Formats: sequence, structure tokens, C-alpha cells
Amino acid sequence: MNRVLLEKQLKELEGRNLYRRRKILQSAQGVRVTCNGVKLLNFCNNDYLGLAGHPKVIRALKKGLDKWGVGSGSAHLVCGHGEAHHALEDELAQFTGRERALLFSTGYMANLGVISALVGRGDRVLEDRLNHASLLDGGIVSGAKLQRFKHADVDALALSLSRSQGNKDLVVSDGVFSMDGTLAPLPDLVRVSKIAKAGLMIDDAHGLGVLGQGGKGTLEYFHLDQSDVPVLVGTFGKAFGTFGAFVAGSEALIETIIQRARTYIYTTAIPPAIAEATRVSLRLAELETWRREKLQNLVCRFVQGAKQLGLSLMDSVTPIQPLLIGGSHEALCFSDQMRSLGFLISAIRPPTVPDGTARLRITFSALHEETQIDLLLEALANILNKDGGC
Ligand SMILES: *Cc1c(COP(=O)(O)O)cnc(C)c1O
Repeated sequence: MNRVLLEKQLKELEGRNLYRRRKILQSAQGVRVTCNGVKLLNFCNNDYLGLAGHPKVIRALKKGLDKWGVGSGSAHLVCGHGEAHHALEDELAQFTGRERALLFSTGYMANLGVISALVGRGDRVLEDRLNHASLLDGGIVSGAKLQRFKHADVDALALSLSRSQGNKDLVVSDGVFSMDGTLAPLPDLVRVSKIAKAGLMIDDAHGLGVLGQGGKGTLEYFHLDQSDVPVLVGTFGKAFGTFGAFVAGSEALIETIIQRARTYIYTTAIPPAIAEATRVSLRLAELETWRREKLQNLVCRFVQGAKQLGLSLMDSVTPIQPLLIGGSHEALCFSDQMRSLGFLISAIRPPTVPDGTARLRITFSALHEETQIDLLLEALANILNKDGGC
């Protein structure tokens, strides 16, 4: 690649306020972080339950390292599948109320692998427009025909499904939309998928651990099970505070994925110690219901306060509470101003979100305190009321 051309493209991105820059943290992940040398209150990670730094999870990881070493040594199908991985899979099957679960190294790879194991050339994948990039990419990689339907528009989906081309159809949606915090219309997705005899796959990266009494996610919230949603994907990097992902469903589904998912077959298994840490965080996520309750209270406090301030939030009941800004420049400016007031909140811009809908993606953790929510609201109000603001 020609350097001059690359530099020109980069300048052009910068000119459109779409250039991405990484911030460097000098502290562990958490509510209080040091970022580029400055202490900030963090409102943008996905550690919803506050398990990423939990002492019991850390201890499980250390014990796991002593017992199993660091690397898994190979892919699952060669000789990298250990007792720790297998135990976690059994516990995930139990947690999700499904026949079996299967580990993947990341959620991105799970989505690529699962979709392309289930559909291919001649089939169709029907996806919500706002689905996570990994689901949309999974649709592309699979070779099936990718049809995107208007966000949460079940009638549009039903119409597409009624024009079936005779081959396999797979409906795919986020459970909780990652940049909006809103829920998929799951009962309706189940209904139209069943009528059309299409498969249904839900990626519940942001619902698991957070929604439902037992933290079983969007499906528990809507009282749905494996017979309604045959394919469930979850990740460990969010509420569970570790790293990796899984898919859960029937015995036949899991065996099919083991035989066919290239992102399963051709990649190294996660370190077994990570599996041990995840076993503990899964148990904490399920049993320590106070984390979910506290999180809900914090979210309610924020939503009420934001309403009083007249902030434009989305219709979200989850710890993802984006503040819609619109332009990328304005969103960056708002994020910078929040940083100067001591708050870390990332601006999310296209193409992660549709054009003209740049936002501050505010997220909450069970480790936040009510007083910190009040400080956040105060700071947001400050910037909105300031002359010459963003
Ligand atoms: C984060 C995320 C993923 C990717 O998971 P990783 O384990 O981080 O690769 C997939 N789907 C959704 C909806 C996500 O938010």
C-alpha cells in the first residue's frame, strides 16, 4: 500500500471527525480509572456487574494458572480442550437451560462461526439493521443472502420471510442492542420465525448477567426458552467480566457447530485459567442478585434525573443509556468536555452507529454509587446549559 494514499485517507477521516484514537489506562478497569494520566469516573465500560476485578474471580484465575499453566496449547479439536473448558460448558448449559454449550475464543468469532455453520450459499440470513458488526459480518462470510430489516420492524421481517425462496432462513438479532440499550422485540421475532419455519439466533452479549431474576438475560426477561430461540450466543467480556464467548442450544446444534464452524476449528482455545475465572464469575453473576438490583436502581435514578434535565435518552431499561448527540464533531466535543469535568464517556460515531446519530454511550456498573450518578447528571447539565457548548 502506498504511504501517501494511506495518509490521505487518514486525513480525510480526521476531517470528518471519524478518526479513532485509543486512550491509555494506567489503572485496572473499574469505576475509578486513571486515563492518560488523569483520574476519571468511568461511565463507558461493559463491566455491568463489576466482576472484572472481583477478588474471587482473580483468585480463580491465579489458581487456574498454577494448575493449568498459561496457554491452552492448541485448538479444542486437537488437544486444547481441557477439564476447565468442559466444566464451564456444562455450567453454561445449566445456566441457560439448554442441552449443551460450546466455548468460542471471542464473541466476534462465535458469530462468524455459528452463522456460517448454519447457512450458506442459497440460504438467507435476515438481520436487524442495528445488529452488532460481528453478526452482520457473519452473514456476509456465510455466503448466504444477507437481508437487513428495519430496526425492530417485525412486520418488515414477516414480509421478507413470506417471500421465502425455499431454502433455509435464519433470523438473527441482538437481544439488547449494544449501542442503544434497547431490547429486541423477542416474542414477536419468535412468533414470525416459527410461522415461517426459520431458524432464530439471538446474541445476548449485553443481556446475560444483567436482565432477568437469575441474570439469564433477554430470554429470561421475556420467558422464552430453547424451543423459542434455538441458537443463543453470549460473551464473557461484558457482565461476566472475563474474556471469551459461547453458543448454547440443542445437542445437534452444538455438534453441527463443532464439525463446521471454521472460527471454532481453526483457532486456539482460550487459556484454561480464563475458563476457571469465568466459572466463578458465572456463579457470582447468578447468585449475587444484589448486583442486578443495585444496577437497576442506579439506572432508574439516572433516567429520572435525565428526564428532569430534558436529556434525549433512548427507550432503554438496561445499563446502556446513550445520550443522542447527532454530529460526530459535537459528540467528540461533548465527550472531551465531560473528560475535563472528570468523567470518562466515549463518543460513539459512524459507522458503529448510523450517520447523524453519534452519541455518548453512557453505561452503568453495580459498583457505581448513587452520589456518582448525581455528579454525572450535574456535569451533563452543566455542559448542556453552557454558552458556546458543543
Ligand atoms: C461485544 C459484542 C460482541 C463481541 O464479543 P467479543 O467477545 O468482545 O468479541 C458480539 N456481539 C455483541 C452484541 C457485542 O456487544
